[in-house]
Amino acid sequence: MGAAAKGSTTRGKSTAAAQSTAQSTPKSTPQPTPPSCPLGREVLGLFTWSFLHTTASHYPPSPTPTDRLQITNLITSLTHLYPCTDCRADFKESVSKNPIEPHTKNKNDLMIYLCKRHNEVNVKLGKKEFECDPRLLDERWRTGFKGCET
Ligand SMILES: Cc1cc2nc3c(=O)[nH]c(=O)nc-3n(C[C@H](O)[C@H](O)[C@H](O)COP(=O)(O)OP(=O)(O)OC[C@H]3O[C@@H](n4cnc5c(N)ncnc54)[C@H](O)[C@@H]3O)c2cc1C
Repeated sequence: MGAAAKGSTTRGKSTAAAQSTAQSTPKSTPQPTPPSCPLGREVLGLFTWSFLHTTASHYPPSPTPTDRLQITNLITSLTHLYPCTDCRADFKESVSKNPIEPHTKNKNDLMIYLCKRHNEVNVKLGKKEFECDPRLLDERWRTGFKGCET
């Protein structure tokens, strides 16, 4: 497990107790991080994927060279900085084998690219794969299903 994305660095009595309760439940079920505690790898992953897929769903259909450079930098930076060591190593390998730059030409291509990278992790963790259909991805991450209205 990566240095930052785990609960063992938690400080403080009540926080440690809350973290210990969270750790006694099965690892496959993401647990809500108690308020003000460092993020565990599951919550960090959920938030990070949510940010990445949401960003892709708002990416322009016809991006500028700057848009393309910035999204490439964002994804590439995670292969260096993502605060979970083994997650980062596998993600780096995946992005090396599947460079992002050719997939930054339009929103649909970018959404599918990230969906595939996420599915690789899903498979590794024994989780269900998401169907990488731009319509479903847009519905999941931008427009919302029926009932998502607030
Ligand atoms: C770059 C990266 C690498 C990671 N590597 C590891 C690792 O090596 N080991 C590890 O234990 N954890 C890793 N994680 C965390 C892991 O992927 C999950 O985020 C975490 O286990 C929480 O899973 P979850 O079931 O809450 O939902 P998540 O997998 O976080 O998914 C969140 C939501 O995204 C949607 N979704 C699911 N799959 C897709 C998809 N393919 N495309 C679009 N939307 C989708 C679903 O609606 C789901 O509810 C990584 C996270 C990131 C960001």
